[in-house]
Amino acid sequence: MDHQPAHFLLPSDPRTFGFFVDGKIVEAGARPYFERHSPGHGVAVTRIPKCTKEDLDLAVAAARRAFEDGRWSRIPSVERASVLLRAAQIIRRRAEEIALWETLENGKPISQARAEIDGCVGIFEYAAGAARALHGDAFNNLGDRLFGLVTREPIGVVGLITPWNFPFLILCERVPFILAAGCTIVAKPSEVTSATTLILAEVLAEAGLPAGCYNVVTGSGSTIGQAMTEHMDVDMLSFTGSTSVGRRCVQAATGNFKKLGLELGGKNPQIVFADADLEDAADGVAFGIGFNTGQCCVSGSRLIVERSVARAFEEMVTAKFAKVKVGDPLDPATQVGAITTAAQNETIMTYIAKGRAEGARLVCGGEQLDFGHGHYIAPTLFGDVSADMAIARDEIFGPVLSVMPFDTIEEAIAIANDTVYGLAASVWSKNIDKALTVARRVRAGRFWINTTLAGGPELPLGGFKQSGWGREAGIYGVEEYTQIKSVHIELGKREPWVS
Ligand code: NDP
Repeated sequence: MDHQPAHFLLPSDPRTFGFFVDGKIVEAGARPYFERHSPGHGVAVTRIPKCTKEDLDLAVAAARRAFEDGRWSRIPSVERASVLLRAAQIIRRRAEEIALWETLENGKPISQARAEIDGCVGIFEYAAGAARALHGDAFNNLGDRLFGLVTREPIGVVGLITPWNFPFLILCERVPFILAAGCTIVAKPSEVTSATTLILAEVLAEAGLPAGCYNVVTGSGSTIGQAMTEHMDVDMLSFTGSTSVGRRCVQAATGNFKKLGLELGGKNPQIVFADADLEDAADGVAFGIGFNTGQCCVSGSRLIVERSVARAFEEMVTAKFAKVKVGDPLDPATQVGAITTAAQNETIMTYIAKGRAEGARLVCGGEQLDFGHGHYIAPTLFGDVSADMAIARDEIFGPVLSVMPFDTIEEAIAIANDTVYGLAASVWSKNIDKALTVARRVRAGRFWINTTLAGGPELPLGGFKQSGWGREAGIYGVEEYTQIKSVHIELGKREPWVS
């Protein structure tokens, strides 16, 4: 596939998907379709059914039946682990196909999509182990007559709303952990990137997941997504997306007090000290904002750099940006692909215009790149950014980096924490005292020292402040999908209350 010209990989007709309920693909029938055009090429690639609220109700009912009858929630964890391991093998076998649909719908470079799918195989394998490692606790310190057990039980039916920036990766950072805990799922992908969430249904069915344990209902966020957040028979909702919709999820969840996991926005700092390996840091900073066209919740969008090296460092990052290969997502050499939606493209260009209007100094980029089709934006660097500017405060979700200089470590920490968000942060320094002091004081759920955007399924994901609630992945991520029960056991006869 590496050697094929990109246009051979474009489908001649869009692939038509059904949705997935109770172990079966349901064809759209009379329901309308959402037709997705590849953001890199403008070609129709998929047709996804617009489900109704009744479809959602049927999917939740199927997930409820599957949960309550114990076909998944009460089987030995070794059997759950086997299904997850088989799913990992099937994803490995179908990796090329999944990567292609991911690129066609999202616009990310095919090489990146392949790496993400490979990562997803590892997540399923890790979660299989986590299923077996999950355990409770025992209390042997309650005196001779009382013995205490704490058990973990699956929370029940989980609604899963995922965004368009990493459709398969974000899904796989949640689904295997939810299943490892013994829960059942109704997933609602973004309507612009639903294909790989539906392909995962085929994968899990082939792996032996019982019917009803993973259901997918497609459609828009404002209809199906909103109905899912309000649904009285969904026990927990895992939502990944914007902070504004996250806030609506909190309001909607009050109906049945469903538990919420929220992974929301970020305005993540990259703190660079003069004593860093500046060449390495410049590369990391360029990667941190260029990767996935800056459409990552953990993109490093604020460059907080020590004043003595600020100008020199700006030049180094600019030189890196100049060499980044932006272009056709299907070209294996491409590093930065297309902006995923026209609306997101508009949002990014509006922020670039605001940066200029508010007096920031445009160092490089700032323009739309014309490849004859699709939306592409050059990696953009703004200098002289002050704390009150929109480009310093808002999550842009695009390849736009704002530079803010500092003089002291205290100032660097204060700038880093001057945000409503707290998702991720990076520090670049060869001085371990400085690096660890910053790591301990910056309020963010993920922290990188002398690297960025690195990780694996062992480490939990999630945010402080308005970046969300709860954690996904790692053993913490499985525990999120359980609830705790205390069991009190009397040994022998109780002290009588009435004699
Ligand atoms: P949204 O928050 O609107 O979308 C994320 C998911 O929520 C999608 O599946 C969407 O469905 C769904 N959704 C939308 N409205 C509702 C609702 N009322 N109730 C329940 N679910 C809903 O993000 P956008 O796509 O509008 O992107 C806007 C901004 O959000 C970006 O610029 C970026 O700043 C941020 N964002 C952050 C992400 C992150 O990873 N933290 C991911 C995506 C966006 P559908 O797409 O079908 O409408």
